[in-house]
Amino acid sequence: MGTPGAVRRGAAAYLHHARALYQEALGAHGPSAPLGFPRTIYHLPIIFSVTGWAVRTLGDVAWVLEEAEHLITAEAASQQWTPSPNALLEAGMAALWLAEVIQALTHLGLDPSPGGDMWLGAADDAVMRARGVEFVEGSVAGFVAVSGAAPSVEAAVNLAREMQQKSLYVFMAGEGWECDEPVTATHALHVSHAPHVPYAPHVAGSRQISFAEQLREGGVRLGWETRLVPFGPDVFAHAHSIGFAVRVAMAFGGVEPGDYHRLFTYIKDRLRAFVAVLGPVTDLQLAAAAGAANFGLPAIATANIPSVPLPGVSSEPWMVPHVPLSDLAERAIEVRGIKIVVTDVPVPVAYGPAFVGERIRRDVMRLELGGPEAHGCELLVMADGVKDGRVMVVGPDVDDRPVGATLPVGILVEVAGHRMQKDFESVLERRIHHSLNEAEGLHHVGQRDSIWLRLSRAAAEAGFRLEHLGRIIHARLHADLGEIVDRVQVTLFTDEKDVVALQERAQAVYRERDERIGSLTDEAVDEFYSCALCQSFAPNHICIITPERSGLCGAYSWLDGKASFGINSAGPNRPITKGRMVDEVLGSWEGVNAFVREASHGTVGRINFYTLLDHPMTSCGCFECISGVLPMCNGVFTADRDHPGMTPSGMNFTTLAGMVGGGVQTPGFMGHSRAYVGSRRFLSADGGILRVVWMTRRLKEALRTEIEAAAVAAGHPDFWDKIASEDDAVEEEEVLEFLIRVGHPALELEPLF
Ligand code: SF4
Ligand code: ZN
Repeated sequence: MGTPGAVRRGAAAYLHHARALYQEALGAHGPSAPLGFPRTIYHLPIIFSVTGWAVRTLGDVAWVLEEAEHLITAEAASQQWTPSPNALLEAGMAALWLAEVIQALTHLGLDPSPGGDMWLGAADDAVMRARGVEFVEGSVAGFVAVSGAAPSVEAAVNLAREMQQKSLYVFMAGEGWECDEPVTATHALHVSHAPHVPYAPHVAGSRQISFAEQLREGGVRLGWETRLVPFGPDVFAHAHSIGFAVRVAMAFGGVEPGDYHRLFTYIKDRLRAFVAVLGPVTDLQLAAAAGAANFGLPAIATANIPSVPLPGVSSEPWMVPHVPLSDLAERAIEVRGIKIVVTDVPVPVAYGPAFVGERIRRDVMRLELGGPEAHGCELLVMADGVKDGRVMVVGPDVDDRPVGATLPVGILVEVAGHRMQKDFESVLERRIHHSLNEAEGLHHVGQRDSIWLRLSRAAAEAGFRLEHLGRIIHARLHADLGEIVDRVQVTLFTDEKDVVALQERAQAVYRERDERIGSLTDEAVDEFYSCALCQSFAPNHICIITPERSGLCGAYSWLDGKASFGINSAGPNRPITKGRMVDEVLGSWEGVNAFVREASHGTVGRINFYTLLDHPMTSCGCFECISGVLPMCNGVFTADRDHPGMTPSGMNFTTLAGMVGGGVQTPGFMGHSRAYVGSRRFLSADGGILRVVWMTRRLKEALRTEIEAAAVAAGHPDFWDKIASEDDAVEEEEVLEFLIRVGHPALELEPLF
């Protein structure tokens, strides 16, 4: 019996199971009982997207069952859906609809989280949007829908790690088998057609365990954060893989429900996904895989089953059998045309973009470097005599300090290369942050002379030492910027005196860099630069960097944007032509607004650079400072990230950050860099530096020179002393009293509102 027969058989089993559940549910709840997945506007999304049919109630399922039966028995074709005369595809499509119905019915009136703590079920729309945008932008390579199981826990863990490192989401559903025999076609199982035992995929003497359970057994963290997503314990849960894809197409691709031509094309071209069936292949799995083939997903199987071409759809086979597990990821990527730069980073922990968002809490921390309690800085410079691959640790290492200890840290990266330029230094330096964050169990925040790293106990136990920080930086600079750098050497200092010395040297370099940008103005250039680096976690946020306003993290100046574009024109920084001026005082240009609208996926239509009151720039979350209005004082406060206490707004920095971050406009509040405070364009539409009535002491002192220069230019040479800090006042009323006492110029400025 050929595979089309097996697909048809599998689909028929879905139908039996769906019917049985439906009858049971109908008896218990009646036809008007609502039916659907939690928190989605897309109903049962596969059915909705392909046919336009919105299943809202139990009664609506009757139509689906009928249509599915037509498709499976290849009788009179459906009026709603006739994309292909291919019986295999049609039966597969029916299987997916039925799987979706089965999933919805299973949850009807039951606990919404299927199968306890392990299985996640359908993503709600919020999760789908947050994750879907990564596919749309290409920050992930694609997804693989895995069913079955690997021959061992270890093999499963290795495969998952490989997928993670290749930036693939792994969607998991269905049980598998532990099987010692070589896998052959004879393992393909027959499916019981008895209504209440719709499938019985037991291989005598084998223990069932799914891929997801293998990963859990192997101590791998599952969830959307790690891109290893366990949807459900049976093969029907694969409806959620395709359900995710079709919703992304409708949400981001503007695909109308029922427009299956566009739907299939969109998913094939934009989502770059495939199916992987591990171990023996059942009829049920084949049917689901045939369903996925409609959406352009090829299936890769480890079993030696017949390969099936898909006439009329493409010349590529939809099922690629007999692929050894160890080649699976590579092979799939080849078949699917997924382009990935594989970075081999020699560290004893997993490495890949999946670990970027990871936070390491104090109770699982092995060691802290820099941060609030110790000096920390990083500096990348061009140098002579660089020996490629040399990594030196000068000072105590992980093993020299007890659990939970803090060390100062200075990271010196020296590079050389034919195409390397001095202007590129700061761009390369910023890569340190992104590179280190991709290691599992390692977390890096900040930049320049304020960095903070944490290493987890698990990473330390796996053998991670300070040397590996250097190994990561070395490997990534070669992999990402190999055209620019030929040689990279890294020195890590952990003795206080060395760190302080490096910090002083670094500060002189930072000053020099800042001065170079200091002579440029917003008027003098035709182009600004965008920065999309933070879209991986704030999908609707885009930084726009002008000569007089650096990126809000403080790491990117306009010159950096320019250099970064010069290094890689397909990278995160793009030039934006300012276009026609909309408002000179507020700082708004047509070209910039159009760019922001697009980059924010339509959520932000306009930004004004020079005010925080009206359409201020959005923030990801990396801002060095937050400024906000103090209505009573007719002024603004500016707080820096390191300030632990309250601000006169009645909120501390953490609360403010929660409000201001995430890519939304919050008029009256704005995140920005420290350097921006000294800019001629700082809040220039709101009265400039003279509007600042309160500032955290550390920031006020650190920026004294810049603030004084700006104040002199504004005709108030004694202004710096008139800014209140937490030492003078914390409540807004107290700030006002202080302002009156010192005669603060903000009191004379035009009313803010
Ligand atoms: Fe780029 Fe802005 Fe993120 Fe800085 S905060 S890395 S400038 S997107
Ligand atoms: Zn950011």
